[in-house]
Amino acid sequence: MNIFNRFASSGHDVAIDLGTVNTVIYVRGRGIVLNEPSVIALETRDGRRHVKVVGNEAKPMMGKTPANIEALRPLRDGVIADIEIAEQMIKHFIDKALGGPSRLRRRSNVVVCVPSGSTPVERRAIRDAASNAGALAVQLLEEPLAAAIGAGLPVAEPRGAMVVDIGGGTTEVAVLSLGGVAYSGSVRVGGDKMDDMIAAYIRRKHNMMIGEMTAERVKLTIGRAVAPQDEGQRMIVKGRDLVNGRPSEVTVTEAEVAEALAEPIGQIIGAVRAALERTAPELSADIIDEGITLTGGGALLGRMDEAIARATGLPVRVADDALVCVAMGAGLAFENRVYQGVLMAA
Ligand code: ADP
Ligand code: MG
Repeated sequence: MNIFNRFASSGHDVAIDLGTVNTVIYVRGRGIVLNEPSVIALETRDGRRHVKVVGNEAKPMMGKTPANIEALRPLRDGVIADIEIAEQMIKHFIDKALGGPSRLRRRSNVVVCVPSGSTPVERRAIRDAASNAGALAVQLLEEPLAAAIGAGLPVAEPRGAMVVDIGGGTTEVAVLSLGGVAYSGSVRVGGDKMDDMIAAYIRRKHNMMIGEMTAERVKLTIGRAVAPQDEGQRMIVKGRDLVNGRPSEVTVTEAEVAEALAEPIGQIIGAVRAALERTAPELSADIIDEGITLTGGGALLGRMDEAIARATGLPVRVADDALVCVAMGAGLAFENRVYQGVLMAA
């Protein structure tokens, strides 16, 4: 059966980018309607866990919950760690995106983006989570393809294009041509690892423990993929003194943060280089002209494009709307006939 027609005939078409850090949902005819952290807070009452809040409301609770509440990220490492909890989260997000009662969800056709590097078992888990959340039909779409479509690359043509999606848990590098994936590689390095490295650096250099959210804030404020000439900007960071156990604060510089980020940035560059080495010559020739397109939240790290351009000698650009590119591309795939084959192939 022609899957595209099946999608076209239904009332609600929903594309979901179920990221390790953020979930983004596109609804046919409406565009991006939801963009929230992939976080769920559960409360234990009478020995049972209930969903307390999800997404925007749950994220600020991370690292601050009392004993009877847990705020967690069910997809943290790129795979579904706890399928039941992931289902609850998906259910909640689809209902919110469709803005109505659960019967809308039960009539909806859903496209879920999956990492190219995911195993059949992981894909099955994602498909099951979406079906169990109540969707009528579930289709999978390779994330790099969705990202490339969302970034406006000519994926349906016989022209090679390279997309590097830097998410929270992983970085995916893919070369696409003729609506398919010619090469894909993935490393388990992304925004989370950058945060960890910043926290580890501050612990080592300044004897202070900081939380995950604080580490992310430091990255967003003064994080750079290329070190500044001098010490650069400064930022006051608060945490717990390792020696006396008291709340404390230290001043951290842009140069220090760049030093902390050097290792994860090096690993991302390594993955891009490995992809270039394994790309067929005709496609390589196209990439020289087209350059490399960056998507995902990690693409927004200061001077990230510059770091990759320096390492490869190729032109690099950050996609517009890098954080919602994948969901946008998946949505365009079912709205536009040009991409029919792409959706069917997944
Ligand atoms: P995922 O697809 O895994 O959910 P995203 O593509 O949504 O991940 O990216 C989330 C990551 O991007 C987080 O680690 C976040 O800290 C990081 N991020 C978002 N904006 C920026 C920014 N301006 N600079 C650096 N990192 C950023
Ligand atoms: Mg992503």
